[in-house]
Amino acid sequence: MADRSNIVSWLTDMDGVLVHEGVALPGAAELIAKWQAEETPFLVLTNNSIYTPRDLSARLVSGGLNIPEKNIFTSALATAAFLDKQQPKGSAYVIGEAGLTTAMHEIGYVMTDQNPDYVVLGETRNFNFDMLTKAVRLIINGARFIATNPDATGPSADGVLPATGSVAALITKATGMEPYIVGKPNPMMFRSAMRKIGAHSESTAMIGDRMDTDVVAGIEAGLHTVLVRTGIADDAEIAKYPFRPTEILNSVADLL
Ligand SMILES: [Mg+2]
Repeated sequence: MADRSNIVSWLTDMDGVLVHEGVALPGAAELIAKWQAEETPFLVLTNNSIYTPRDLSARLVSGGLNIPEKNIFTSALATAAFLDKQQPKGSAYVIGEAGLTTAMHEIGYVMTDQNPDYVVLGETRNFNFDMLTKAVRLIINGARFIATNPDATGPSADGVLPATGSVAALITKATGMEPYIVGKPNPMMFRSAMRKIGAHSESTAMIGDRMDTDVVAGIEAGLHTVLVRTGIADDAEIAKYPFRPTEILNSVADLL
C-alpha cells in the first residue's frame, strides 16, 4: 500500500469516483463521513459547470451522499477565481448555465454583450445561433476567449451529448482563436481548489477515475494521485499512458 502518512487534505473527482449516474458508489458515503468526522479538509471537484454547488449538493444528497455546498468546487468556480485574479471586476459575455453565471456574479463581473473583456463559455444545452454569432463577433473584435472545461462530450441515459469542448471548437473554427480552458486537465483547477481549503501540494492527495484528466492534472499539480477503477479507466487503458498514478484502487472503499 502506498504511504499516505503525510496526507492531510483530499481532493476528489465526483463522477466515476463518488457517484455513477446519480447513485453513490461503494464506500463513497463512508469516506465522506470519515473525512467529516476527522475534520479532514476536502473538496469534491467536477468539470461540470452547469450547476451551482448548492444544486450539486442537493443532487448528491438525493443520491445518498451528504456533501455540503462548501465542499464542492466546479470548473465554473475555478474559472471565476481565475478571472477575478486576471482582471478584477471585469465584464464578460457568458454562454452557460446558472453554475457559471452565479459564479461570475459572485466575483462582481458585469454580464454584457457590449464590448466585454471576455467571452466565457460553459457547459450548456440552451444556446442558439444568435448567441454563437455574438460570441464569434466579440472574439474577433478582441474579447478574450475562455472555456470552463474541455470535455467534447458528456454522458446521458440516452447516449453521449456534445459538451463544452465541441461548442468551443465551433467558435474556434469561426474565429481562429483557441480558448484558455480552466477545468481539468489544467492543473490550475487543483491549485485553485487547494487554495480554497488552505491545502498544500506536498500533503494533498487527489482521487480520480480518468488518466487523461484527473491523474495527469494531479501529477502536474504535484499531488499524491489515486486512480479508482469505478469509472472510465480499466487496466488496458491505464497501461497506454506514459505516466502512472501513485496508487490504483478498485474503489474509494479501499481508502476506508
Ligand atoms: Mg470522473
